[in-house]
This record gives sequence, C-alpha cells and structure tokens, in this order.
Amino acid sequence: MSNDARIVPTIRSMALVAHDQMKDPMIEWANAHKPELERLELFGTGTTGGRIAKEAGLQITCLKSGPLGGDAQIGALIAEERLDALVFLIDPLSALPHDVDVKSLLRLATLYNTALAINPASATLLVRAASIEPPKTV
Ligand code: PGA
Repeated sequence: MSNDARIVPTIRSMALVAHDQMKDPMIEWANAHKPELERLELFGTGTTGGRIAKEAGLQITCLKSGPLGGDAQIGALIAEERLDALVFLIDPLSALPHDVDVKSLLRLATLYNTALAINPASATLLVRAASIEPPKTV
C-alpha cells in the first residue's frame, strides 16, 4: 500500500476482524461478497477467521485471537506494508479488555493510509472498489 494520497490503491490483500457482537454480521457480509473476497489474500484474527473459513468457505490465514495478540499481528502486517485493506467490524456498545490493541490497530491503519472499513456499509463499498482495477498510468 502506498502512503501517497495521489495514487489509487490496488487492493490485493485484506484483513477481516470482528468483535463478538459483530461476528454474525461479518459472516453474513463475507457470504454476500464471496466472489470479490475470493480474489484477495485474506487474513483474519483467530475466531473471526475460523468462522469465515467454516461458515463462508473462504481461504483465510488465521492469526491469533484478537485479545491474545491477533490485532497486534494485523498491525504488524500493516507496518510491514503487507496489507492493503482492513475490514474491522467494531462493536460500539461493549467495553473491550483489549481496547489498547484496537486503538493501536486503528492508529497503524491511519498512519499507513491503509484502506479501512469499520462497519458493513463501508466494508461493502471497500470490497466493491477492490474488485475494480485502478486506472493504468500513462
Ligand atoms: P477474534 O478477535 O476474531 O479472535 O475474536 C477479534 C478481536 O479483535 O476482538
């Protein structure tokens, strides 16, 4: 992913993370966008990724569970510039024990200008954009 705001990003890899109350909406969303998601290299936190593999039948690299370091692992992928996009379905109504990891992940996605969606509506726009090739530079 380029940090240069003038460049239209190409999305080839995407991480999927959902807090507990958002896991069912994530599965529903992943099933609805399976053709677009199948074209991408997918990463997920442990529980989210495991459910997506099982219930949406998508190939996804499962990292550790979010509270056990999975959010930090996704942050590391961003810092290593190995991740183009992040769909992070955040639960706005629950306090989370790993809030610092959530903030850190959002901070890194912002810092590295990673395409980011934090609710299903914006995730849909993001995955649609990911299926469009960027214009060729002349
Ligand atoms: P999980 O992690 O997919 O392992 O539940 C998500 C999170 O960051 O809470």
